[in-house]
Amino acid sequence: MGATVIDGNAVAEQLRAEIEEELRVLRLSAVRPGLATVMVGESFDAQAYEKHVRRLAEGLEYRYVSERLPADAELADVVATIGKMNADPRVTGVLVLQPLPEHVPEAAVNSALEPTKDIEAVHPLNAGLLAQGQPRFLPSTPASCFYLLDSYVTSQGHDASTYYSGRTLVVVGRSNSVGKPAQWLGLERNMTVITAHSRTAAAGRLGDFTRQADILIVAAGKPGLVTGEMVRDGVIAIDVGINAVKDASTGRTRMVGDLDFDGVAARAEAITPVPGGVGPITDVWLVGNAFAAAAMAQRVEPRFGLFR
Ligand code: NAD
Repeated sequence: MGATVIDGNAVAEQLRAEIEEELRVLRLSAVRPGLATVMVGESFDAQAYEKHVRRLAEGLEYRYVSERLPADAELADVVATIGKMNADPRVTGVLVLQPLPEHVPEAAVNSALEPTKDIEAVHPLNAGLLAQGQPRFLPSTPASCFYLLDSYVTSQGHDASTYYSGRTLVVVGRSNSVGKPAQWLGLERNMTVITAHSRTAAAGRLGDFTRQADILIVAAGKPGLVTGEMVRDGVIAIDVGINAVKDASTGRTRMVGDLDFDGVAARAEAITPVPGGVGPITDVWLVGNAFAAAAMAQRVEPRFGLFR
């Protein structure tokens, strides 16, 4: 059986075009999104992500503010910078780029964000709202997984509002930004949810659980972690992992996911590639959330970033 390879770039472009259209309409009611990124240090990943997000935001004519602090900045400096963005009426969404230096505690940074500008839903209030099924914003990566899934199941003639009910979702990974919110989104869709993580693997039981998945979302950051013999025939497999590996034959570095792509594709109904799967949608979703924040500030009903 050949799996359908879901084209994340095409879905991302569709989402971007939808945001552009909504923006065109809502500009008439003075909705003007503004996105600020806060970067501490100069990690390659944070710089690359900032560049992507900036290009997208500016392409949609958002206001864009880039705040950069040195790697040795104290927590108080980071909190003060976030406070400045919280208070700036031109900024509707604030993103603190990861990774943060080790001496800057993530929880304190998250709590410093103004909840109405916390477009990744990392402030405890927003994470709590999400866990209770009343989200203000949907965090970009897990939301993108479900946007991709919705797009795929709809393309197969299913109704995305009922398709998930009673199916089994297995999430591999339990980070605050991906694994945990992905399980909450699955529960809201009436799925039976299993969350596996590094201790599941250490107990030698990862395959026992991944084999139960109708839909599998893997976000572990371990190249090729899930192989073909760890999934059931007909699974829909979403690969969030982004891992740089050196190709033994060419010596070049390339990006791979957490799925053993060929092995899983041989059994799956559908699969996302890396690169070109979840990643491109994530950036667009985040920018969409800054738009949703702007609309909410003007008391206009936004479509993006809200539970659908
Ligand atoms: P994280 O390091 O915070 O969490 C990783 C999770 O995976 C942990 O909960 C851990 O228990 C689990 N894990 C680790 N090893 C495991 C194993 N052998 N078996 C089972 N579970 C294991 O990472 P994160 O921020 O959640 O990101 C996960 C991956 O997704 C990374 O590769 C990251 O680069 C990628 N990512 C991609 C996007 C995107 O846009 N596509 C966005 C965010 C993260």
